[in-house]
Amino acid sequence: MKKIGMLGGMSWESTSTYYKLLNEEIKNRLGGLHSAKIILSSVDFEEIEKLQHLGLWDETAKILSNEAKAVENANADFLIICTNTMHKVASNIEQNISIPILHIADTTGNELVKDGIKKVALLGTKFTMLEDFYKNRIEDNFDIEVVVPNEKEQDIIHEVIYKELCLGKVNKQSKNEYLKIIERLEKEDEVQGVILGCTEIDMLVQQDSVSIPIYDTTNLHVLSAVDFALIN
Ligand code: GLU
Repeated sequence: MKKIGMLGGMSWESTSTYYKLLNEEIKNRLGGLHSAKIILSSVDFEEIEKLQHLGLWDETAKILSNEAKAVENANADFLIICTNTMHKVASNIEQNISIPILHIADTTGNELVKDGIKKVALLGTKFTMLEDFYKNRIEDNFDIEVVVPNEKEQDIIHEVIYKELCLGKVNKQSKNEYLKIIERLEKEDEVQGVILGCTEIDMLVQQDSVSIPIYDTTNLHVLSAVDFALIN
């Protein structure tokens, strides 16, 4: 079994989900007392979030590159960055290490292709919804059209992520707002599925309340990490 390197703490709420799911999946596949081999570096999200909103992405890249190097030096065989948003600096991090990064958008793209999805909605932070690093990777590499919510909806989604989910707050009203947005995207934009492109959204939205398939990036990233740890 390979050793999984994790960059976490963004937020720790979702990192704890990653940790639990990784161990459960290894146990499912290997049985007995098996558990995942993990090297985790967990950052202080307050520092990262401030830099994000100031647009100081080079600073975030420096912090995460150093942490990634520490994870590599602790003998991790590969790395997962446990947040969609911080894949904005994935290529900077990549330059600083020699172990591979399992990119969260590739994991998601592969699953969309498997299901024959041609048009999909993307929910995430505004950085993820508005900028090219995520959308373009899915559109260009997997030939899938990516639709994002309108400006007002983006504000709601972004606020709920930083002011509620990353603080561990799960609010019924926010859930309904998310569901309303997904429903509109399905009806008006005719998307065939929705990417939960933020690793905390699964705290709020699950498949049983949505009529089109959801692509939960946390869960999909975990499954591909376990595949990589066991098979490759
Ligand atoms: N975990 C979130 C994501 O997947 C948001 C927190 C962050 O900005 O990293 O994008």
